[in-house]
Amino acid sequence: MDKKTNLNQFRRDPVSGQWSIILDGNYDIATLIAGLKPRLQTQKPGTSSGYEAGFEEKTPPEIFAIREHDSQPNQPGWHVRVVPMNQPFLQIFGDLNNRGVGLYDVLDGIGAHELVVESPEANVHLPDMTQEQVRNVLLAYSTRIRDLKKDLRFRYVMVHKHHGGGDNDLRFHSHAHVLATPITPARVKAELVNAMEHYLYKERCLFCDIVFQEMNDGARIVMQNEKFLALAPFASRAPFSTWIMPKKHETFFERNTELSQLADILQNVLRKIKLLLHDPDYIMVLHTGPNVASGTIRGYWKTLERDYHWYIEITPRFRAFASFDVGSGFQVNAVSPERAAQILRDEKV
Ligand SMILES: [Zn+2]
Ligand SMILES: [Zn+2]
Repeated sequence: MDKKTNLNQFRRDPVSGQWSIILDGNYDIATLIAGLKPRLQTQKPGTSSGYEAGFEEKTPPEIFAIREHDSQPNQPGWHVRVVPMNQPFLQIFGDLNNRGVGLYDVLDGIGAHELVVESPEANVHLPDMTQEQVRNVLLAYSTRIRDLKKDLRFRYVMVHKHHGGGDNDLRFHSHAHVLATPITPARVKAELVNAMEHYLYKERCLFCDIVFQEMNDGARIVMQNEKFLALAPFASRAPFSTWIMPKKHETFFERNTELSQLADILQNVLRKIKLLLHDPDYIMVLHTGPNVASGTIRGYWKTLERDYHWYIEITPRFRAFASFDVGSGFQVNAVSPERAAQILRDEKV
């Protein structure tokens, strides 16, 4: 028997509580890249996303923009612009009407769904923007989260983006989605509970423990700067999945004041992924603390500011490695995080 087959591991992610199966061995990276979903790399000349500068009156009126001092709302002159989503999943007006239907629970589809247009031009993506522009994008995220959390109907505000795939018009225009929901999403809830349990048991933040251990170990570090650490998570569920975390304890992304440093590390990680994997589709999710001001104070919110710690998760989208994961919940990852971190570290940008 090949000795290597004995080295595959089940690994548990202490944050999500999910298990993955990490395949050891030297899975060929070129084969993996070939398995990335093919994606049109560039927009056809002359086609428009409908969200560029000059198209302001064709979109819903802006909610927020970072723009030149002498420019007017809903006119050109903006760097980042936030508008309501044209066909939102959720609508902003009305009451929740929390009710039971037999044994089932129902709320009306109340929420906010906003679109962050991250550049006045299509086809300019985060790795290729100026650092100042990436900082503007991050500032737009944090401003919208702070504002939406004033609405006490919302338990959680999630910012996520997908590069490639998804909404057709915007395929080639860098953008993010902001979703405010009256329910804490199940994945977030699981993280909050895991973080709380770690804290109650050890009186330390789980994420601070991860930062400390990973910085001592070094094997899974992708890169770092003064304030932030980028690492391949221990139980990584997909090849080259990367987390960016503040080194110092901080519960809420929207309170961070080091956005230039964050822009720097985010851009460098995305450049490495772009170069190595030939501009793959990817998903980026911002994990921040919930809206503590909203609704009932639950048990896990008593220690929240000590036990939860925000981070950014970036996951390149590979074709599913095995259908096994659908039924079992185990994700099979062909590239160990140690190997992924090493390859990303060596990728010069
Ligand atoms: Zn989208
Ligand atoms: Zn922490």
